[in-house]
Amino acid sequence: DRPWQPLGLDELPLRDSLRGMSPYGAPQLDVPVRLNTNENPHPPSIGLVDALGKAATLAATEANRYPDRDAEALRADLAYYLTSDAGFGVHTAQVWAANGSNEILQQLCQAFGGPGRIAIGFEPSYSMHRLIALATATEWVAEQRADDFTLSAEQVTAAIERHRPALVFLCSPNNPTGTALPPEVITAAAAAMAAVGSGIVVVDEAYAEFRRAGVPSAVTLLPANPRLVVTRTMSKAFALAGARVGYLAAHPAVVDALALVRLPYHLSTFTQAVARTALAHADELLSTVEAVKAQRDRIVRELPGLGLALAPSDANFVYFGRFADEQDVWRRLLERGVLVRDVGPDGWLRVTAGLPGEIDAFLAALSQVLVDAR
Ligand code: PMP
Repeated sequence: DRPWQPLGLDELPLRDSLRGMSPYGAPQLDVPVRLNTNENPHPPSIGLVDALGKAATLAATEANRYPDRDAEALRADLAYYLTSDAGFGVHTAQVWAANGSNEILQQLCQAFGGPGRIAIGFEPSYSMHRLIALATATEWVAEQRADDFTLSAEQVTAAIERHRPALVFLCSPNNPTGTALPPEVITAAAAAMAAVGSGIVVVDEAYAEFRRAGVPSAVTLLPANPRLVVTRTMSKAFALAGARVGYLAAHPAVVDALALVRLPYHLSTFTQAVARTALAHADELLSTVEAVKAQRDRIVRELPGLGLALAPSDANFVYFGRFADEQDVWRRLLERGVLVRDVGPDGWLRVTAGLPGEIDAFLAALSQVLVDAR
């Protein structure tokens, strides 16, 4: 083989906004207890593995053909699934699907953001909102949540009036804090956006299925708020992160807009088949949600006894602190085989609600780390 000529990243015609950046992603380390990416710890049952495999085999028989470009059957299944949360009949035309909700978020920025346009978010929140905005040349404006990580209707309204954004990102339950938004905050955002221009309010509900009783989904607000978009994923509650399926519910006009920016045949025949099979087994898959919530509530109960603060969680993870040096705590937990997430801001860590034995290991390791630190 002939040696390749050397070439550095800085010698490429990289866009200025990408210079100096590092790729997004949590470390994928092979340790005994992985509680860092908010995955569902329950693998599919043998029966479901078999059904998913058969669906993929059947899909393979027509692998010479492109997939259904508009994923009509999958969107119909997702619409049916959303109907119980919505309290009204959701239609296929109001649903869109893509490779993970990250791709949905990217398509929203491609359609409604771009040069000369502003997107705002309320941090700490899911950092991909900012990164996807930047990657689509949309200007990002970060507002800060209150010290207890809540967000008020007044703050959201004032921020919208100040910045007049094309897109507002609200995350409920919020990653990394677990905080769910009251519906008044979402309707206030939609009203403020309608008052200042033609923008879109995106509610990222990746963790919606884990919310506590009495917290409504933003899907219920869609009919009265045509500028609202609710994004969801099969990666968390459905325990299907590996299949890469995200979706949204919105006014059909929003779905029409996304069809302008999606790549043709973006959702493979295999993805569509596997997702539909998973949805046909929704009851079985979603039965893991209660077990995950029980571990989350256990973490929430236990951590104050260790002298730690935490944010109330409606998600499958808990945000806890405050540490003088959270990177040191992260490292010491890792030394004990427990991987959690340090997503900032300083002093806080996030742990995913895993299997009971994993949470045993996490709590034991954390107690030891705290004792050692004294
Ligand atoms: N939104 C939020 C708030 C998330 O935490 C995640 C995953 N970490 C996503 C969206 C993207 O998930 P996916 O692309 O797997 O649907």
